[in-house]
Amino acid sequence: MSLEDRVRQAAAAIKTADALLITAGAGMGVDSGLPDFRGTQGFWRAYPAIAKLGLSFEQMANPASFAENPHLAWAFYGHRLNLYRKTVPHQGFRHLLEMGRAKPRGYFVFTSNVDGQFQRAGFAAERIVECHGSIHHFQCTASCSDEIWEADRETVNVDESTFRALEPMPRCRNCPALARPNILMFGDWSWLGQRTEAQEQQFAAWLDGLVKCAAKLAVIELGAGSAIPTVRRTSEQVRQRLGGTLIRINPREADVPDGQIGLPFAAEEGIQKTCDYL
Ligand SMILES: [Zn+2]
Repeated sequence: MSLEDRVRQAAAAIKTADALLITAGAGMGVDSGLPDFRGTQGFWRAYPAIAKLGLSFEQMANPASFAENPHLAWAFYGHRLNLYRKTVPHQGFRHLLEMGRAKPRGYFVFTSNVDGQFQRAGFAAERIVECHGSIHHFQCTASCSDEIWEADRETVNVDESTFRALEPMPRCRNCPALARPNILMFGDWSWLGQRTEAQEQQFAAWLDGLVKCAAKLAVIELGAGSAIPTVRRTSEQVRQRLGGTLIRINPREADVPDGQIGLPFAAEEGIQKTCDYL
């Protein structure tokens, strides 16, 4: 089947669906200008100061870095927090939101991105699962309590020339320890998962509702790689359970299970092309 026919087929699946599941990985943010940290070289291109120290993404995105080098750890997360706060989500978000809102059974978002871009784009907070947590929420580095708080009022100032966070750095609300983002990091045994678990329960309830009324589902997956396969697996498992169609939009890894639709495009371009046939 030609690529154009596949795009047309994807549009038809979306058009006839009663409900839309949007799943997203790091590739979704690239078209908004966000780095996706693909491979060590990709990560180092985004953060030359960290390249100079020879530290990998796995070493930086690690709770141990808050103990070993807190000013560097908060430079990394503070820089990202500030970047995500000022990023304008690309047009693809708006198109997806319009599609989702038009569905009789609505939409749900499942994302591994911690950047809060779906909320910024106007998606309802109660219809989003952030499976790796959110940079816009903080918790204690010393695990003094299980409180997760919104970071709206927190500011992190980073000296870009030295790539160090400036004092005062974010502190726990309940003890003198540093705060950290409520993001699931590598080797992370102290991540507080209850916010994500509550989101997952709402997602499960929505899916159960779809099963009960035999709703027709379309799954649109964007920029989710196979290196950390949580998002791809979720797309495939949900589609397998409910039936319907999986549309996988991915410029490098668009391979799909039999009968599903793979579109080798970047996220925004793939959404736009599909929209043209709606
Ligand atoms: Zn604390």
